[in-house]
Amino acid sequence: MNYFIIPVTSLMQNCCVICCKLTRESVVVDPGGNSEKIKKKLDDLNLKPSKILITHGHLDHTGAAIDISKFYKIPIFGPQRFDKFLLKPIVSKKEDLHDFKFSNCIPYNWLEDNDKLEVGSLTFEVIHCPGHTPGHIVYFYRKGRILISGDVIFNGSIGRTDFPRSNYQDLINSIKIKLLPLGDDITFIPGHGSVSTLGYERINNPFLN
Ligand SMILES: [Zn+2]
Repeated sequence: MNYFIIPVTSLMQNCCVICCKLTRESVVVDPGGNSEKIKKKLDDLNLKPSKILITHGHLDHTGAAIDISKFYKIPIFGPQRFDKFLLKPIVSKKEDLHDFKFSNCIPYNWLEDNDKLEVGSLTFEVIHCPGHTPGHIVYFYRKGRILISGDVIFNGSIGRTDFPRSNYQDLINSIKIKLLPLGDDITFIPGHGSVSTLGYERINNPFLN
């Protein structure tokens, strides 16, 4: 598996392109904005993505999803349905355009805990990690020991919980009960900031002690 991080929006959200080395199938995770920048990167890599994956409904993770979906005629997967209230503005923006070509990605293909997604020869497991948002999910490539963690855990920090329907204790439970047991060796690609490992965060992250 190869991955390429494309920081998007003024919030420097890590949009991530994942590619199966074997088949060259690729997906775009959290295209939050700057769709031209994302398309150019895909062009440079000579990749045509097969789907879009979303970790959670915040605008900096979803803002360019409709545009990328329309451009490549590909479906959007995720987040978990509890984030529907966050996606309404995007859905209504689309409806305002009266472009029914978009209908193939609406309704969203909601994902649930334990769902699996194939990207070429790679299998990603969906893990529901509520707290930052109620429908937040992460994507885990078990064989490759890679986790795409969205805004659940960061290098040295954790996701904010001062948003509507955020819950601090749910977030801590998601990290401690669902993520840390995956293993210290897991490299995670967060929604913001630099890549880290679960082992490093288990010991050094001030929010987990
Ligand atoms: Zn967020």
